[in-house]
Amino acid sequence: MKRKKNKVRTLGDHERELRIRDKKLEEEAEKQRLALYDKKRKEGKRLKQNSPSTIQKRGTNYCQDCGKEKPIAEFYAYFDDFGALIKIFPTCKICDRKRHRGNRLIIMQEQRKLCLEYYSKRTKNKQLRCSSCKTKTFELLTLFDSRYKNNKAIADEKIYRKLVNFNYPDIKYKILCYNCAFQHIHQETKR
Ligand SMILES: [Zn+2]
Ligand SMILES: [Zn+2]
Repeated sequence: MKRKKNKVRTLGDHERELRIRDKKLEEEAEKQRLALYDKKRKEGKRLKQNSPSTIQKRGTNYCQDCGKEKPIAEFYAYFDDFGALIKIFPTCKICDRKRHRGNRLIIMQEQRKLCLEYYSKRTKNKQLRCSSCKTKTFELLTLFDSRYKNNKAIADEKIYRKLVNFNYPDIKYKILCYNCAFQHIHQETKR
């Protein structure tokens, strides 16, 4: 008996096939869109931004950074009193956060560099190196405020920001590496 081969196609089979085909087509379209987006980005072009009303009608927006189509809720957006979309950010919340973090990190590093360079010129030997072990490895260096006897003596991100914003106040900072700085504090607390 070869009954299996002569199986009658039901409406359900047909629907299932259609669903699979539709999904494949959708995936293909999404792939093509992302490829086009990648190409545009490499050329330094931006994706075409739809108007807020078009975006609201569609319910989704394309992120300029990751190129993905995402629901409006995944973008920072402003609505008027009647609930109409007025403004929507070109990048999704995830990409936006990434970009902010990146910018903050760059600013932070720049401020640290400015402070270390400025205050090292005011030390006795005028050099950017640990005044104790003489290491010159920039990543290891920190400003050290010996008025404090604890970890507060070691400058952090907030301190560097303040120093730059207050135009380098007259504070007698030492330049130390983290190793020597912690040793210093350790000795102080033992006393
Ligand atoms: Zn994104
Ligand atoms: Zn040192």
